[in-house]
Amino acid sequence: MPNLASFRMNRKMSKFASDDGSPASPMMAQYRAIKKQHGDAILFYRMGDFYEMFFDDAIQASEALDIALTNRGKGHGREIPMCGVPVHAAEGYLHALIAKGFHVAVCEQTEDPVEARKRGSKAVVSRDVVRIMTPGTLTEEALLNARQHNYLASVAQVRGACALAWADVSSGDFNVIPCNLEFLASQLARVSPTEILVSENADEGFRNRFGEAAGVVTPFPPIHFESATAERRLLETFGVSTLQAFGEFTRPELSALGAIVSYLKITQKGNLPLLRPPARELATETMQIDAATRRNLELTRDLAGNRENSLIGSIDLTLSSAGARLLESRISAPSTNLSTIRERHEQIAFFLEENDRREQLRKELRKLPDMHRCVTRLSLDRGSPRDMAAVRNGLVQAKTILKLLSSPECPQEVEQCVDGLKGQDDLLDELKASVVDEPPAILRDGGVVKDGYDPRLDEERRLRDKGRSVIAEMQANYSVDTGISSLKVKFNNVLGYFIEVRSAYAERLMSPPHSERFIHRQSTASTARFTTRDLSEVESRILNAGQAALEIERAVFSRLRGLIAGALRELSAIAASLAEIDVAAALAELAARESWTCPEIDETGVLDIRGGRHPVVEAALRSSGGKPFVANDCHLAGPGKSPRIRLVTGPNMAGKSTYLRQNALIALLAQAGSYVPAESARVGMVTQLFSRVGAADELARGRSTFMVEMVETAAILNQAATGALVILDEIGRGTATYDGLSIAWATLEHLHELNGCRALFATHYHELTALTDRLERIANSTTSVREWESDVVFLYEVKEGAADRSYGVQVAKLAGMPRSVVERASEILNYLESDKGGNGGQVADMLDDLPLFAAAAVDVETADAGIGNAARERLEAINPDELSPRQALALIYELKELLD
Ligand code: ATP
Repeated sequence: MPNLASFRMNRKMSKFASDDGSPASPMMAQYRAIKKQHGDAILFYRMGDFYEMFFDDAIQASEALDIALTNRGKGHGREIPMCGVPVHAAEGYLHALIAKGFHVAVCEQTEDPVEARKRGSKAVVSRDVVRIMTPGTLTEEALLNARQHNYLASVAQVRGACALAWADVSSGDFNVIPCNLEFLASQLARVSPTEILVSENADEGFRNRFGEAAGVVTPFPPIHFESATAERRLLETFGVSTLQAFGEFTRPELSALGAIVSYLKITQKGNLPLLRPPARELATETMQIDAATRRNLELTRDLAGNRENSLIGSIDLTLSSAGARLLESRISAPSTNLSTIRERHEQIAFFLEENDRREQLRKELRKLPDMHRCVTRLSLDRGSPRDMAAVRNGLVQAKTILKLLSSPECPQEVEQCVDGLKGQDDLLDELKASVVDEPPAILRDGGVVKDGYDPRLDEERRLRDKGRSVIAEMQANYSVDTGISSLKVKFNNVLGYFIEVRSAYAERLMSPPHSERFIHRQSTASTARFTTRDLSEVESRILNAGQAALEIERAVFSRLRGLIAGALRELSAIAASLAEIDVAAALAELAARESWTCPEIDETGVLDIRGGRHPVVEAALRSSGGKPFVANDCHLAGPGKSPRIRLVTGPNMAGKSTYLRQNALIALLAQAGSYVPAESARVGMVTQLFSRVGAADELARGRSTFMVEMVETAAILNQAATGALVILDEIGRGTATYDGLSIAWATLEHLHELNGCRALFATHYHELTALTDRLERIANSTTSVREWESDVVFLYEVKEGAADRSYGVQVAKLAGMPRSVVERASEILNYLESDKGGNGGQVADMLDDLPLFAAAAVDVETADAGIGNAARERLEAINPDELSPRQALALIYELKELLD
C-alpha cells in the first residue's frame, strides 16, 4: 500500500532501513518481520508503557513530532535510531503524524509478558499490528472534529466512466455517486475527504482531475478496484445475495465502493466498521458547486480557512455534533429535489411556530451525546464505558424528545423524524439497569456496572470491599454453632484465615458433629487452630474478589457491547433522526432570531428576492456595532425572458460584491432547506452555482492572478448550462484595461447566449453598461452613493441603472492615501476623462500634458509639498502670542525635524 508516507520513507530508506540483512536480537527480529509487512506506515511498536519507533521510522517520527531521537544500543557496529512516545499520551502524537499525511501501524503486545516468560527468560512477547491508522479511517474522539465529517473517499474509473464513493467510518455513512470526469473536482470539493483512494494504475491525467481536493491521496492496488470482486465483497459485507435492494450500481460505482470496503478491512485488520448500506446519489440531485465557488462564497471556511466567519459558522445554531455535521453536509450539497426541499421547509415552519416546544426541545437537544460515533467505536471494540453511557443517554434523550413531539399532532414531515426515534426500549432498559450514571473513562479498574445488576458481581464486590465484615459474620456464626463464645477467626501469612479456640475447646471441635466441618490445622501451647471448607473458599474469594469483580464487569461490558453492535443500524437511525430534528429546530431558531423567511422554490428559473441580506456581512456589521445592513432586491427572469443577467456597476466599496454573494447564498440556503435572509424570495431551482472573483495569486500552484481568473472563468463558460446561476465579480481586472474590458465584454455576450443561465456580473468597466442597448436579456443595476463635499457616502442601495464612475480616487482618500497622491491621481483622472485624454491614451500626448518627468518628479515634489503642508498646518494651529520662549524654541526644532 504505497502512499504519501511510503513515498517519504522511500526517499530516506537508505541509511537506516530496518532490514539491512544483519543478524538481530530476537526482539529486533520480531520487529523487522512486522515492519516488513507494513513498510509504508510508521510502526508504533508497543514495549510496555511506550510505543517505540526504530530505524527510518524513528528518524521521520522524531522530525515530524519534534521529539528526541536516541539509539537502542549498537547492533553490529551500528547504532539503531530510536524514539518513543508514552502510550497514555499516544493520541496527541498520532494526531500530529496523521495530520502530516503519515499512516501509522499500531503494533500491540498480544500476550501477557508473564505468559511469554514461561517460554523461557529470553522469549519475546508476541505482538501484532492491530490497526493501521490513516486520515480517513479514524474513529477516536480526540482525533476527530466533532462538528465535521471525516470522509474516506475512493475514485474509480471503468472504461472512461467514473464514480466517487465516500464513507465516514466514525458514523457509518456510505455513499456513492456516478460522476462525469469534468465534475469530479466539484464533487470531491463537496465531500471534502481527508483521504482519497485511487488505483495505483491511475494515470497522472486522472489524478489531475481531483482539483483542489485537500485529502491525502493514497494509491491502492488495482485489484481492490476490480468491479466483479468488489461486488462480491459488498454482498459479503452486507450479508445480502443481491445489491439491488440498495439500488442499481454501475461498474465504476461498485469499484469505488469495493475499494473502500477492502481498504477498511486491511487497515482495521478485519475488524470492519459497520457501514450502512451504500446510498446511491445522482449528480442531478444536488446543486453542483465547484471548489472555487465554495471558496469564494466562503461556505464552510472563510478565506483564511476558519469556520467561524464562514456561512456555516454564522448560521449554525445546532446543539449536537451530529446536527452540526448534517447541517454542514446540507450546505455543502444543496438539494435540487423539490419535495426534499419543501419537506425541510415544512419542518422549520412547524418548529418556528411552536416557540415553547422549540425552546423545550433545544434544552433537551443540548444534552445529546455523539451517539453515531460512540456506537461505531463500541462496535469496533474501541469504545469506552463513557461511550456506552453516551448511547444510553442518547436513547434517554430520544425518548424524552419523542414524548415532547408526540402530542399534539405534528405535520407529516416532522412525524417521520419523530417516528425514527422509536424502538430500542429493551436495550435502553438494559443499559439503564447496568451502567452507572457517570462511568470512568476506561474499564481497567471497573466501577462501570451498577450495583444490583448482577448478583455475582454484587457478591464479589461485597467480598472485596467488606472482607472484614464477612469474616466477622462468619466468626459470629461459628461461635453460635459451636457454643464457643471465645472463638475467633484470625489471619496470618502462613495459614491465611483460620479459626482459633482455646485448647480446652479443641476436643469439642474435633468430635462429631463439629469434626465433619472443622479441620484441625495447628496447635499451639494454649490454642488450637482450625479451618473449614467455607472459610478457605471465602478466603480465596476475598483475595480474588477484586479480580473476579473486574472479570464479571468485563463480561457484562462485552455483552452490552454486543447488544449495541447488534442494534447498530437501528441506533444509527435514531441518531440520524435526532440530527435531523436538531437541524430543523436550529434553522427555525435562526429564522426566528434573524427574521428569515420561507423561500418559494419552483422550476420557473426565476430568481426574485425582495429585501435580501448577506447573513455573514450583516452579522459582522452588527457585532462591530456599525450601521445596519441595507437590504436589497434582485430580480432575474426565467428562460426566454428578460432580464436574466444583471450588470452591476458602482463605486468601489459600495457593496457590489456583497450584493452578488448574498443573492447566491440566498438561493443556496433555500435549496439546502433553510429559510433565507430576505423579506421574500422566489428561487427557480438552481442546478449549478458558479462564483468567481477577480482572483488572488496562487503562486504556490504556479499560476498568476490573471491565469487563475481566466482558468476559473473558462471552467464556468464551458460548464454552465440551463439552471446555472453565475456570479462574476470584476472579471478581467488582472490585465491591461483594454484586454480586460474585451474579455469581460465577450464573457458577458457568451453568458447572454446561454439559454436558461442566470448571472450577476459586477464590473468597473462602465463601458459595458451600454451593452444593454444591444443585448436584450441584460439589465443594469447600480449601487448608489451620495457625493458630499468631494467625499462619497455609501448608501448600499442597489437600483436599476448604470453608474457613471467608480469614485476610486475618493475611496483611496478614505483609505488614508497621502493627500499628495490623491491630488495627483485626481489630476490624472481629470486629464484622462477630458477630451484630450478620452481618446484612449495617445501616450505621447499624455506625456506632453502630464510629463513623465513631472510624474517622476511627483515623488520629490509631492514629498516637498507634503512636508510643506505639514509645516503649514502646524504653524496655522499655533498663536505666536501665546507661545513661551521655550515653546517657540521647541517649535523651531520640530519644524526643522520635519524638513529633515
Ligand atoms: P469593490 O468594488 O471595491 O470591490 P464592492 O462594491 O464590491 O467594492 P463590497 O466589498 O461588497 O463592495 O462592500 C464593502 C463593504 O461595505 C462591506 O465589507 C460591508 O462592510 C459594506 N456593505 C456592503 N454591502 C452593504 C449593505 N448592503 N449594507 C451595509 N453595508 C454594506
